[in-house]
Amino acid sequence: MHESCGVFGVYAPNEDVARLTFFALFALQHRGQESAGIATTDGKRLQVYAKMGLVSQVFSEDSLSQLTGDIAIGHNRYSTRGSSRVTNVQPIVVGKGSNTIAIAHNGNIVNAKPLYEELSDLGYTFHTSTDTEVIANLVLSSPEKDWVGKIRYAMHRLQGAYSLAIMTHHHLFGVRGPLGVRPLCLGAINGGWVIASESCALDHIGANFIREIEPGEIVSITENGVDSYREEVGRRATCIFEYIYFARPDSVINGRLLYPARQAMGAGLAEEHPVDVDLVMGVPDSAIAAGIGYSHRSDIPLCEGLLKNRYVGRTFIEPDQRIRDLGVKLKFNPLPQMLDGKRIVVVDDSIVRGTTTPKVVELLRRAGVKEVHMRICAPPIRYPCFFGVDMATRRELIAAHKTIPEVRDFIGADSLGYLSIDGLIKAVALPKDIFCMACFTGDYPIPVQLEMDKLELETMPAGQQEPFGIKQR
Ligand code: SF4
Repeated sequence: MHESCGVFGVYAPNEDVARLTFFALFALQHRGQESAGIATTDGKRLQVYAKMGLVSQVFSEDSLSQLTGDIAIGHNRYSTRGSSRVTNVQPIVVGKGSNTIAIAHNGNIVNAKPLYEELSDLGYTFHTSTDTEVIANLVLSSPEKDWVGKIRYAMHRLQGAYSLAIMTHHHLFGVRGPLGVRPLCLGAINGGWVIASESCALDHIGANFIREIEPGEIVSITENGVDSYREEVGRRATCIFEYIYFARPDSVINGRLLYPARQAMGAGLAEEHPVDVDLVMGVPDSAIAAGIGYSHRSDIPLCEGLLKNRYVGRTFIEPDQRIRDLGVKLKFNPLPQMLDGKRIVVVDDSIVRGTTTPKVVELLRRAGVKEVHMRICAPPIRYPCFFGVDMATRRELIAAHKTIPEVRDFIGADSLGYLSIDGLIKAVALPKDIFCMACFTGDYPIPVQLEMDKLELETMPAGQQEPFGIKQR
């Protein structure tokens, strides 16, 4: 499962803004590993440097030194809308003369297609297949005179998930969609200002966290400081998967540090699904904190039974068939000396398609584990995501068409327990109604695009089309 993107922006006349953006993108690398880009402005021109690859692969001293100016925005991409190709890398620059913007987007616009058709009819041209370019052209098409008015106009038309960094020749804007699906925060640095998808990016560049940007808020940053404009918001829908998996555990979202929230998920699993075992283990890296939480609550010793090669998947060198056949062994190495003959609880963040978990179970059994009891922080995922998470079609989601005992048998575990939705909310310790949990419930916070429903239906086997019903409100 992949999140769609990380965004960053900085307005800091006293700083090397491109270098700051580079290190912030480095801290946000977990949000997107397909391409990276930085755009800067010196007030006269907008320049952009963006390529396929990891942040460390895309930029060099030479490319950074050419990105001059007082304002920068940056982006890490994992493609959801729009295919994976070099023309879709971000930030993108759209417009002419003083009516030009650079934009970086995290999320997914569900009404991108009709907006694209409308803008095309008006004569706007598109050079990418991204919904980000639809947002940019929508801003530029606004009849409003000032930038805040133009962005507001676009916000009234857009449906879906969006956290944006937008740069003009003289402004930096941070924009968070009214649903607040994706996070965005504001920080201060050496007389300047920064915006970032996650607060961990601020920590790494020595910026002070000021606050989160609210759903429906536009933060405008100029030489005069920060101004805030707020749109009316209805239902809030922060993606609960930010807490389970996407965001880094040292980030703060909705005032809640993620590390203790993940520990509490593990503790909740120990309460809901106790089992008599010798050891507890969290699957690295995302379920380590939850494993610790399970161990503390159950008084069962914690062990580090799987070591992760943290850099696998962070290369663009394709493995040959023999290496590919090693599968999960390329990623995890078990410690048989710790595991042989033991009964263990294995805590993981989620089961999506059910392709990785059976391999982890098998790896542990081969290392001598006597009993494997899987405990999963995310409740069963039964519905696809339309808000920027490249999860799977409904047909591919294992919990959409198998019962929990069937999933247990499929993954080869001795037992399987998912955290309940109430247990998850208790762990996050925030009101239930601020979250999107549509991938568990099918209760989408806004109507999803008809074509998407159709696509899903087309990919379902004939017998399974009937029960598929996206609830919309
Ligand atoms: S459907 Fe699931 S993954 Fe997508 S935004 Fe909602 S909670 Fe997050």
